[in-house]
Amino acid sequence: MTESRKSNFVFKPVVRGVAIEGNSALFPVGKVYCVGKNYADHAKEMGGKVDKNQPFFFSKPPQAITQSANIPFPTLTDDLHHEVELVVFLKSECSNILPSEASQHIFGYAVGVDLTKRDIQAVAKKTGGPWDLSKGFDNSAPISKIQKKEGLLIEQGEISLRVNGQIRQSSNLSNMAWKIDELISWLSRYITLKPGDIIFTGTPAGVSKLNPNDKIEAEIENIGSLSFKLIG
Ligand code: MG
Repeated sequence: MTESRKSNFVFKPVVRGVAIEGNSALFPVGKVYCVGKNYADHAKEMGGKVDKNQPFFFSKPPQAITQSANIPFPTLTDDLHHEVELVVFLKSECSNILPSEASQHIFGYAVGVDLTKRDIQAVAKKTGGPWDLSKGFDNSAPISKIQKKEGLLIEQGEISLRVNGQIRQSSNLSNMAWKIDELISWLSRYITLKPGDIIFTGTPAGVSKLNPNDKIEAEIENIGSLSFKLIG
């Protein structure tokens, strides 16, 4: 196995690139992790609670990331949900680091929505099956442009989401049970994190059903905003 840049490939590798505010170069996406149940009020509305002993993670494929303003309404679901989340982008490799060492690996942040097929996820939860098909489908991770904030840990800021102008989610990043430095540190104990890896940091309460042609607007204070339409 080689990661050499000089390798020949049988076809051209496709790298998902994310636009950065004020920069013409793109951020190349590596692994995409998402943390579950990181706000107590959302954990409660899902019938669970935050576990301060152990966070849990799942992944989306990098190809799930999109910055398109028009997203085709996903097929094979009767209960598509929105989850607004702060997304963290990493710029350097780290393994088994302490929370105090995490900030130096941060490249920046964006506003993201973890689109979820709640009906498919409910079946997976019931049968003990994986979440991939409920969380990692095409265009399941819309995100805003990246706000470059190298080495900066963010601990607070308003986070909100509107559907067709109506407020559905409203909270503050300070309500996250597991903070950004703790999430990076925890993940790095299990997996070597690389430049390009990104982390969705969980959603507050208010997740709800989306319909074809809904317009979704999400915002995080000092980070930016994200707007897209689900084309039905
Ligand atoms: Mg989520």
